[in-house]
Amino acid sequence: MAAKRKRRTGGDRARPVVGVLAIQGDVEKHLAALERCGASGRRVLVPADLVGLSALVLPGGESTTISKGLDRHGLVEPIRAFAKAGGAVLGTCAGAILLARSSRNHPVPTLGLLDVEALRNAYGTQVDSFVAPADASSRPAWRGMECVFIRAPRLVDPGRGVEVLATVDSEPVLVRQGRRLACTFHPELTDDVRVHAALLELAKAGPIGGMDG
Ligand code: GLN
Repeated sequence: MAAKRKRRTGGDRARPVVGVLAIQGDVEKHLAALERCGASGRRVLVPADLVGLSALVLPGGESTTISKGLDRHGLVEPIRAFAKAGGAVLGTCAGAILLARSSRNHPVPTLGLLDVEALRNAYGTQVDSFVAPADASSRPAWRGMECVFIRAPRLVDPGRGVEVLATVDSEPVLVRQGRRLACTFHPELTDDVRVHAALLELAKAGPIGGMDG
């Protein structure tokens, strides 16, 4: 009998394996948040690291640096393919910029996985970083969530498939399109793991053939 091919798996449903792009950013803090939600974390640096993942996190950092790293490590098309095959993806801050269909203010090449435009550094420079609660008019699950903004982008001109889940000062700060989530703040910097838990919920939803591409 032919030997069974060994392959990396996405873990079982109870403990999915979730990747964190490890080019730059708060990789350790994202891994810790995912572990707290019951997932097993894996650093992603090369295309083979994507095999068998249930979900992927693109952390914050500097989108120009991360974008160059994606290119250098040959990850652009493999990440697109992962998402198009139904893999759940979360982009936070610079990660949200990279998911967008395009970016403005020193544009960076993006993955085009989320039908929004990202305005980089839309709130000003590092000194304009701030913490604010999600508006009361956000979806109930997200109201009051403390959001940490660090040279954050704004997400504008969302397409019809994009749901705004949470706002701060009436600006979208957490959006979803199918199995793709993006937030303009840093959820890994607070003890609130709701965003990571939401990613896992999307990942658990099972095969989805024909989801938005
Ligand atoms: N300003 C950064 C950029 O445009 C994003 C900042 C962040 O991820 N905290 O890439």
